[in-house]
Amino acid sequence: MRAAVIDKPNEIHVGIVPDPEPRPGEVVVQVGACGICGSDLNIAAGLFPPTPFPIVPGHEFAGQIVALGAEVDWLSVGERVAVDPSLYCGHCEWCRIGRGNLCDNWGAIGDTVDGACAEYVSVPAVNCYRLPDHLTYQQGALVEPLSCAVHALDILRPRVAERALVVGAGTMGLLTAQLIALSGTASVTVVDRNSSRLPLAAELGAHVVDTDLAGAIAQSGGYDMVVDASGAPGAMQAAMDGVRKGGRFMVVGVAPPEATLSVSPFRIYNQELTILGSMAVLNSYSRALELLAEGTVYADPLLTHSVSIDGYPDALETVRRGEGVKVQIVPDARDRPESPS
Ligand SMILES: [Zn+2]
Ligand SMILES: [Zn+2]
Repeated sequence: MRAAVIDKPNEIHVGIVPDPEPRPGEVVVQVGACGICGSDLNIAAGLFPPTPFPIVPGHEFAGQIVALGAEVDWLSVGERVAVDPSLYCGHCEWCRIGRGNLCDNWGAIGDTVDGACAEYVSVPAVNCYRLPDHLTYQQGALVEPLSCAVHALDILRPRVAERALVVGAGTMGLLTAQLIALSGTASVTVVDRNSSRLPLAAELGAHVVDTDLAGAIAQSGGYDMVVDASGAPGAMQAAMDGVRKGGRFMVVGVAPPEATLSVSPFRIYNQELTILGSMAVLNSYSRALELLAEGTVYADPLLTHSVSIDGYPDALETVRRGEGVKVQIVPDARDRPESPS
């Protein structure tokens, strides 16, 4: 089959690799669509320590089951599924208290084992969620980023009539802002340096949009919830000034591991501030699928780019340049080696 392969940090090729065979408990999924995430940039650059090389990337995906491994008797060939990429060990202390996203042996399809920027991928059957007929594979590939936003809201716990600031209008920022807006918040402000993303933020529920973080904070008088979805340490540092008394600051964006923020412990004490983190997905995948299936979350405008597997290296550059919002690999005829390109 055709696949994108990251051979080692900063070395990517698209070529032919062996077709995956399902092990017991697994199914092979013919990939219908696979999103590229900001974290894939870190993986490709060798900045995500758990990733072994070579690896086929891709953790946001949906497709059709084409083969069943032994012991899989509750799914059928031909079923359409979205796939939770999480791989938890099940036996560490975090797994045993229901916090598998903090697993000591954490893994994910596309991050620590071969993923879905390929024609086919073999996945644990228990990670598959049936995709309703009215959702496309491209919509199905948005379940994973939305499930990260659902997990973030589980931790953030917005209360009715609070004021929120979301920094970064990429996929995670836009989905998180939309969920916060749906939760009864008095106002949601979305800030991104890239002004081309702001009309979309407004369309998807932001009450205020701005390119100027310090200016937005100064005008607002502070926010009960400040969520960083940019991963940019400079933006996070500035955003912390926007947390009002009693408020909370949440990090959803993935910053470089060595980056630091400076914060006044006196202020945390005196203003009763709360600092929160949200890492990936936890018991939130089926709820994200429900939100898309019911049309509660409107995410179609996020789907700005779809490219064939051959376009993976260029697509990664598109993500790096911050063009559009969600770039997806949609394997098609051009990816089948027997067909003329
Ligand atoms: Zn992702
Ligand atoms: Zn574990």
